[in-house]
Amino acid sequence: MNLPIADERLARAKESLEGLSVGDAVGESLSYQFYRCREICDFSVFRPGTLRYTDDTEMALALFETLGRLGGVDEDVVAWAYSTRYKMDPDRGYGKMARHILKEIGNGTPWRDASKNAFGGGSFGNGAAMRVAPLGAYFADDLSVLPAMATKSAQVTHFHPEGIAGAIAVAVAAAVASSQKRKPPSDAAKFIWDAVMDLTPESEVRVRLATARGFLTADVKQVAREVGNGSEISAQDTVPFCIWSACQNLGCFREALLTTIEVGGDCDTNCAIVGGVVSAFSGGIDIPADWHAAREPLVLESSWMMNG
Ligand SMILES: [Mg+2]
Repeated sequence: MNLPIADERLARAKESLEGLSVGDAVGESLSYQFYRCREICDFSVFRPGTLRYTDDTEMALALFETLGRLGGVDEDVVAWAYSTRYKMDPDRGYGKMARHILKEIGNGTPWRDASKNAFGGGSFGNGAAMRVAPLGAYFADDLSVLPAMATKSAQVTHFHPEGIAGAIAVAVAAAVASSQKRKPPSDAAKFIWDAVMDLTPESEVRVRLATARGFLTADVKQVAREVGNGSEISAQDTVPFCIWSACQNLGCFREALLTTIEVGGDCDTNCAIVGGVVSAFSGGIDIPADWHAAREPLVLESSWMMNG
């Protein structure tokens, strides 16, 4: 049976969202002992639904809900959705500037003013990239609209061109991963890199992506040293490494996440990005069952219900 296109798109976005949220929760949990993540990654000892996710998933849920309602992104609506979810559940590890911007928007400041004034020209943090993979999977059938949609989802909180470039790169990676499902992972990875390099605007993010792509056989520590591992929490320092790690391990969710975690850095966000891309490729079927069961449930539509 063929689903209507909006339902098909939302189903693809949900596959990515599952990987993003499991990645976020597992990455956060293992971040404190990242160097021995392979020894302590058995989550079957957790009571089901007790592994908390962080701001990455909260914001991805807000974006997913917006796609479900509108079939696309409207800046005013998505800004409202981000700030409403923040207001409902602020204790999710949001950064200081994110908290400030989301509070301002919640208090009625136009998103453009709140976002543009951050750091005197807009934030280039990794927060726009961390939430965007499901949007990419949603528009996997139409790459022509994807950069504009990713930009809209990004700029309401990350006005700086680097923050936006990071979001476009991750969205494109997730889109191509989704459209290349069931292809050999190494072929799909090549398509992902080609599209990411084609569609990511000129930026430091793109320069480092080109560097990362050249390391296809290098070890993870070397790549993290060269292009960053998110420890500076910027888009430039986060996105190229994450796309490398996702492409390198496209055929195995578990290996993709453990490879990503073992170099430290911004583990929850790195794993949200990598998890969102890799599960877009697998459809989520290779997420380890104990990881998926441990993650707390995703509560959808809560922000819309609160506001009627
Ligand atoms: Mg987080």
